[in-house]
Amino acid sequence: MTPELPPFLPFALPEIGQEEIDEVVDTLRSGWITTGNKARRFEQMFAEYVGAGVEAIAVNSATAGLHLALEAVGIGAGDEVIVPTHTFTATAEVVRYLGADVVLVDVDPRTLNVTAEAVAAAITPRTRAIMPVHYAGLGAPMDELLALARDRGLKVVEDAAHALPATCSGRLIGTLASDATVFSFYANKTMTTGEGGMVVTRRPELAERMRVMRLHGMNRDAFDRFVSRTPAWYYEIVAPGFKYNLTDIAAALGIHQLVRLPGFLARRQHLAVRYHAHLAALPLILPADAPPNEIHAWHLYVIRLRDDARLTRDEVIQGLSDRGIGASVHYVPLHRHPYWRDRYRLRPEMFPHSDAAYRSMLSIPLFTAMSDSDQDRVIDALRELLGPC
Ligand SMILES: *Cc1c(COP(=O)(O)O)cnc(C)c1O
Repeated sequence: MTPELPPFLPFALPEIGQEEIDEVVDTLRSGWITTGNKARRFEQMFAEYVGAGVEAIAVNSATAGLHLALEAVGIGAGDEVIVPTHTFTATAEVVRYLGADVVLVDVDPRTLNVTAEAVAAAITPRTRAIMPVHYAGLGAPMDELLALARDRGLKVVEDAAHALPATCSGRLIGTLASDATVFSFYANKTMTTGEGGMVVTRRPELAERMRVMRLHGMNRDAFDRFVSRTPAWYYEIVAPGFKYNLTDIAAALGIHQLVRLPGFLARRQHLAVRYHAHLAALPLILPADAPPNEIHAWHLYVIRLRDDARLTRDEVIQGLSDRGIGASVHYVPLHRHPYWRDRYRLRPEMFPHSDAAYRSMLSIPLFTAMSDSDQDRVIDALRELLGPC
């Protein structure tokens, strides 16, 4: 008999409970499955959760939310938007949707977050906006970035896909002085609706524009305020909008995932602390912690191999895979992808920190439904692969 292999441990898995399932079933039975009361309820709950008087606009992906936010702040052809190279392509692609150009910048070698110095050096007369990414769930240096944006008259749209919840200078991301902040509810994020996202803003005119553009450019809500006895079938199109609304089926998941978010965070923090403690003796650069009293969302646990490690990154990922453990890489930096590389004639030497991090990094399993003994398997495997012989 062959010995039974332990089940494969993926690098991420969603945690869906009975409340989420019951709420989805309730939606399916209700006769209203697209955007309706549950999406509205989810928006209200989310705005209350973030606080500070934000408005929340539910969308069918964070990518959609980033697009809406840039459109609402007025980004268009001929403009430049500064984006860290060390991110997912969604952060940058939305800039191109609007005909504007992406200016990629390198990141801090310790945090892998964008720096105010790199952004300042990339500003040209065409620069209109900055899109900080809170990499892995660690807050970007927002005080400096917001001060720079204020001085130079730039818009700020935060890609907070990793950062629910996380803080900067003691304030929850979503409540800072940026124009809009976008969260993701993709399957592997810190809470999920399958696919989905949320934009939050404290600027009512941006919220109104995003609501109109989220659904085909229909101004029905605004129109209703001016004309009372409007027939239910009548609407007006005021712009060529998008189809970015979140369904009630997805919102049904979000309503309960949001309630569980504090518990999810506690579990992620517990796992991160255990990884720190048990991996400290290996030839690894462990991920940067948040400063004291700040919250790191711990969406990802990204380790980097030191130069004295005896295996390469690819060998470590293979070694984990051989032991039934999933891993990933966040990210192949944008400057290495053919589209971005060729369009902007980019070379790895232009982004030394991001590129070196990419070559040595892997993301190891970190998700709320993994047990301490699941985590011990990862720790033991890394010790076997990298520890003293
Ligand atoms: C996941 C992710 C996105 C896109 O989120 P979707 O909801 O899948 O559109 C954008 N930026 C970053 C950094 C991400 O990790």
